[in-house]
Amino acid sequence: MRADALLALLLLAAPTVLRAQDLGFDVHFGSRHGAEFTARSSSWWSSKVLFDSGFSDPVPGEWDVLLIQGVLPDPNVRFQAARSGGSWVDLDVTRGPDGRFWAKGKFPRKAGPVRLRALDAGVAGESAVSIYGAEAFADAPETPAPSLPPSRGPVDPGAKPPLVHGRAEWRAVPPVNPYSPDPMPWRVTLHHTDGRYTTNLAESLEETRFIQDFHQHGRGWSDIGYHFLVDPLGNVLEGRPLETLGAHTLSNNEGNVGIVLLGTYHAPKNDQPTPAQLAAVASIGRFLVKRFGIDPASLKGHRDYKQTDCPGDLAYPKLPELRAAFGATAPVPSARKPRRVRVSPVATAPDWDGGQSRPLGL
Ligand SMILES: [Zn+2]
Repeated sequence: MRADALLALLLLAAPTVLRAQDLGFDVHFGSRHGAEFTARSSSWWSSKVLFDSGFSDPVPGEWDVLLIQGVLPDPNVRFQAARSGGSWVDLDVTRGPDGRFWAKGKFPRKAGPVRLRALDAGVAGESAVSIYGAEAFADAPETPAPSLPPSRGPVDPGAKPPLVHGRAEWRAVPPVNPYSPDPMPWRVTLHHTDGRYTTNLAESLEETRFIQDFHQHGRGWSDIGYHFLVDPLGNVLEGRPLETLGAHTLSNNEGNVGIVLLGTYHAPKNDQPTPAQLAAVASIGRFLVKRFGIDPASLKGHRDYKQTDCPGDLAYPKLPELRAAFGATAPVPSARKPRRVRVSPVATAPDWDGGQSRPLGL
């Protein structure tokens, strides 16, 4: 069957109303995405307000959900948000043992900027709170953009996939709904997580589990949105299974493999993509080109599809060299040799933390 005929069939077979996929508007406060503040226990005479963002820049559309995520060392901080002209709404906080958190609030559906504040709810001592990102969105059906696959190069079903740390290793939970098949991808999109810039594999596994929870229960998606996650050490982690429809690029998820860099490659955090990380992305790309005949020129950044910082000002300029590497036949040397990981049942997943594996308990 021709690829475009197959695509048409798949689109017909897809459920008529898909859950919003990547519908969020980035929320900026004074042209900054995210914020930092110090949580310090207040006295009876002092204000309980630890942080007040002031009103954000305009949000380009109607929204009814506000979602923030970052690092919250002290759990005794309450978050509230208000739309201009509206009252304060409490955000429900979900927090892992490492302090990674996301928080969500529901609002009447309307347009308008948002103001965020944090309150002392029994803070002990002093700790630094980071809000990596804030997004506002409304649930709506996804309308796939009319886009057909370009001509393919040769396809090699026997192409060897890259070594990955499988879902069992990061203790993935099953998808909320069955996956939609997407068997012959024809394009690739690069993202950043706008999250933690991890410094070892244990952190990357925990961060990936956190992102799955954030995507499933924060954004309301079926599973983690991306197909591959690449940490700064060059470790590749398996996201949503390849050959299933991703949830990372609004209206353009069909045939699209999502690769995400762990970290925030944008001001003010300015994490740097590492050579090992770029080599790992290149190895995934070379595999995709060989396996599916994908045109290396089809590699884009998320911002090529939508108004977003993603994948960040520091990662976006790497796209030309990545496209060249996707099409190259010679292997790009990796600074670090990934180890082959056997996918094992969740109950017997290897401990990643020197025998002290700890589920996030989310
Ligand atoms: Zn993105």
